[in-house]
Amino acid sequence: MIAEILCVGTELLMGQILNTNARFLSRQLAALGISQYHQTVVGDNAERLEDAYRLALSRADVVITSGGLGPTADDITKRAAARVLGRELVPFPEAEAMVRQRFREYGREMHANNLSQTLFVPGTRLILNPYGTAPGAIVPAGEGKTIIHLPGPPRELEPLFREQVSPWLASLSGRVILSRYIHIFGMGESAVDEKLRDLELGGNPSLSPYCSTGEVMLRLTASGEDAESCRALLRPVEAEVCRRLGDTVYAVEDDDEGSLAKSCAEAFRRRGLTLVLLDEATGGLIASELSSAPGADEMLRAALILPRAHDTGSASAQEIRTRFGADCGLAAIAGDDETRILFSGAGRERSLSLHLTGDVYRVRTLTAKHALHLALSVIASPIRSGKH
Ligand code: AMP
Ligand code: MG
Repeated sequence: MIAEILCVGTELLMGQILNTNARFLSRQLAALGISQYHQTVVGDNAERLEDAYRLALSRADVVITSGGLGPTADDITKRAAARVLGRELVPFPEAEAMVRQRFREYGREMHANNLSQTLFVPGTRLILNPYGTAPGAIVPAGEGKTIIHLPGPPRELEPLFREQVSPWLASLSGRVILSRYIHIFGMGESAVDEKLRDLELGGNPSLSPYCSTGEVMLRLTASGEDAESCRALLRPVEAEVCRRLGDTVYAVEDDDEGSLAKSCAEAFRRRGLTLVLLDEATGGLIASELSSAPGADEMLRAALILPRAHDTGSASAQEIRTRFGADCGLAAIAGDDETRILFSGAGRERSLSLHLTGDVYRVRTLTAKHALHLALSVIASPIRSGKH
């Protein structure tokens, strides 16, 4: 199955908002094993939007739109689709009940133009929206093709896709798709590639690498008749990949939300340990990463963020740990030509000396990742989450 994303909104073309919906939808489609060859952004202009639909429908089975489902004159996404399909928009009572209900909940008056949000092509399957006033839609587009309309705000589009569109797409293909996400730190993309190159995978499962600063993530995806047959395909390959990559694998997850900070916070939480940070090297990046991980509020006791080249004298990971009554201390100290990472706790003292090059952003990101990885490697052996 081939899908194509069509994002509607002049504000996207003007660069006023970042097209996070395209990124979200693309990742979701990739995880479902659905191919995508083109993507379009088009302004709120009927003629150009109709052209974009025609082109997308000529080369994809499913066209997913984002935006333009509101009640105002520039919200033309559904109308343009109906024109291209040569169909009329008719009122859907179920959609009207939903829109009225939403206005009651928000305590706002509903205007006549909101009724435009209840109009759809006959045969449409509604995507009722508990997160906002615009229902989405799954619209049959002839020749076995489909147009899916989703509202623009990401806090509506994302859960609606996860809860209603993703299961529908999966049922269309009649197959189940499962992925495992293998997180690697301390080995570059080409070294990873070299170690895995001779694995003969034949497409199912498939293995795709994603690189970010200092890290590689591998997505291992299988499709099968049911979840168990997917797991049976994934299990031996995951085991072989982990065997070959050894200690550089720090987490294997069922979704792509994993990170060093998340694994680190999780490892501390499991062992019931607390941490204090002394950060003189990343401008607070370590604390920022850690504190956005689930469960971090339990483990992070304090973070001292000092300017670079501040004279910390002999302050060590051990001292700050003792001073703040935490189980562990982690320090990142920037010197003239090296950055030192110090860890103390769980009965161990460890240190690491880094010589990093590049812009400030890169150096800070790598420093933070090394610090989190050092703490993680002391506190936990690699975490394997999930049922495998
Ligand atoms: P619209 O339905 O086009 O009126 O969009 C409503 C709101 O959704 C916009 O004001 C943006 O905040 C957001 N939005 C629309 N399209 C996108 C997109 N492609 N990516 C991220 N946010 C979007
Ligand atoms: Mg718009």
